Amino acid sequence: LRKIDNEHVWHPFTQMKTHRDENVPMIESGEGFFLKDNEGRAYLDGVSSLWCNVHGHRVPEIDQAIREQLDKIAHTTLLGLASVPSIELASELVKRTPEKLTKVFYSDSGSTAVEIALKMAFQYHAQKQTPDDQPRDLFACMQHAYHGDTIGSVSVGGISIFHEIFGSLLFESIQVPCPTAFHCPEGYSESSYLEYCDQELERLVTANHQRLAAFIIEPLVQGAAGMLMHPPGYLRRVRELTARYGIPLIADEVAVGLGRTGTMFACEQEDVAPDFLCLAKGITGGYLPLAVTMATDEIFNAFEGAPEDYKTFFHGHTYTGNSLACAAALATLKLFDTQQTLENVKENTEILSHRLAELQDHPHVGEIRQKGVMVGIELVSDRETKAAFPMGRRVGHQVTLAARKNGVIVRPLGDVVVLMPAPGMPAELIHQLCDVVFSAIDEVISLQV
Ligand code: PMP
Repeated sequence: LRKIDNEHVWHPFTQMKTHRDENVPMIESGEGFFLKDNEGRAYLDGVSSLWCNVHGHRVPEIDQAIREQLDKIAHTTLLGLASVPSIELASELVKRTPEKLTKVFYSDSGSTAVEIALKMAFQYHAQKQTPDDQPRDLFACMQHAYHGDTIGSVSVGGISIFHEIFGSLLFESIQVPCPTAFHCPEGYSESSYLEYCDQELERLVTANHQRLAAFIIEPLVQGAAGMLMHPPGYLRRVRELTARYGIPLIADEVAVGLGRTGTMFACEQEDVAPDFLCLAKGITGGYLPLAVTMATDEIFNAFEGAPEDYKTFFHGHTYTGNSLACAAALATLKLFDTQQTLENVKENTEILSHRLAELQDHPHVGEIRQKGVMVGIELVSDRETKAAFPMGRRVGHQVTLAARKNGVIVRPLGDVVVLMPAPGMPAELIHQLCDVVFSAIDEVISLQV
């Protein structure tokens, strides 16, 4: 298997040259919050299988829902037909998400959910404009943001290497500085940098408001950017500004949604109602690919009101609203109620914050960032100067290998060690996760200094 994997499976991101991992575990099964490889080794899944697992693996209720759906039908198109599970799921989502989000457009990954929101926002304005109006074809996004890998989602992302490589294919966006005090540039204090970010936000939105098609943001936490946390009130500030100029707000809750920040959706914490909401990853409990882009009546009605030839949104995936995936998503949402998953997240949030305090004085932990069960531990060579370890050392990566050796899977984002346990993970496993990761940090650091 390893030979065939090396020869034929083109893995995303992690495979080539020095990045090749000769001992990558080959996962064969899973149970609860553990993954098992083909040699019978179990690993605690500390990042929810890329932030999508919610209630565990092989959850009887989700397994059963998929089986029952399989006995009826696995898939049917939503182009010209409707399907029962996609209707039931849309109704559940509308009940649970922030107000005014009444329309559910299905796709199959976080990137497509974002791509759809961008295209919908663009077409929404185009429907209402006359040929003499300036086109609204500019998007505002956050510096360092990650919204996916399609051309559209990379265009509104802030990962510089993606722009370096694909730049000539991308459309225009403006990047708002990310208000994170730990990474403030030289010459600023933490508070003066936050003030600068706020002024820039206002300046950029105001200066470009006539061209802005939408503002896209990951509410509260920029996950893949390295678990960068926004200051309290930031999301509300973005909402107020965008509302002032009639700019639709796209909330990308692909990572932060489904309980991970402590509430079902991160927007709730700042009482923000976006115009678009993107969900994927955890929506099926991490079982099957499904994504949704939710939109308001106001957005939808602009399409209905368009001239006859334009009365549609020009987008539609083959597997949109897949029946098995919708059934898994319905079961996943129900489990939030029956298992009181948000209560579990609350308890685990406290345990994590208590345990993370153990690293507070660690000489090589620059910053510990936590929101709910989303955690980033930033490792630095010097705590005082915040200097990073030399690039080639790949300290974050080494920590994840050391943790894996001891049966725990976590993920590095540069030298930020990311913990993202499933919302349903029991407390004792949160302790196990911390025990192993903290020892891995010490083990790797002791070899660096
Ligand atoms: N948005 C955010 C915030 C994400 O974290 C991700 C994936 N990490 C995506 C979009 C893209 O999702 P997918 O990988 O399912 O395309």
